[in-house]
Amino acid sequence: VQEQMSEKRFRHVLVVQKAAVELAKQYGTDVEKASIAGLVHDYAKERPDEEMIALIKQHGLSKEIIDFGNNIWHGMAGWILVRDELGINDPEILRAVEIHTVGAKEMTSLDKIVYVADYIEENRAFPGVERAREIARVSLDEAVKYETKGTLQFLIENEKAVYPQTIETYNAWVVNERMEKFDK
Ligand code: GDP
Ligand code: FE
Ligand code: FE
Repeated sequence: VQEQMSEKRFRHVLVVQKAAVELAKQYGTDVEKASIAGLVHDYAKERPDEEMIALIKQHGLSKEIIDFGNNIWHGMAGWILVRDELGINDPEILRAVEIHTVGAKEMTSLDKIVYVADYIEENRAFPGVERAREIARVSLDEAVKYETKGTLQFLIENEKAVYPQTIETYNAWVVNERMEKFDK
């Protein structure tokens, strides 16, 4: 992992790993899986664009990902490199890496832990991070909710494109009233 990235990013990865281990202990989930997932979550973050685009096409992933750039594809496609280059075959770890940026409608405890650990790791400094840490000490689900809302607010504030799955995550974790399904 270290060979794949700058010193700065590797430092980030190590503190995400640490935060993920702490959350796993606190919430009674598999500590080793959390540790590994934390360590590999940004494995593909510094890959050249051309290589990632080729990977996305080769694996028949939705072409939509390409337009959103590295911020989206280092997770949504990066898990393939984690599997093929690091030989990690645990589907739960790979899934947590896949959705660590955008979340998902349904998330396992491991998914939530990696998603949240990435957001609250000790070197992060942005408005709201302290609140996110407080919430994470109390409820993993509430931390997912807080992070999802904060990310969407940030994207809108900065006029950035919102990946459809980010909206799905928002609808599942932040929206209060249940969305009714009507027959057309
Ligand atoms: P990092 O890899 O440790 O920097 O953290 P993440 O993988 O969680 O996020 C990478 C970047 O993607 C952050 O700047 C997020 O704000 C951004 N991001 C998250 N969701 C979306 C989205 O739906 N659209 C876009 N354009 N960026 C997003
Ligand atoms: Fe990331
Ligand atoms: Fe990260």
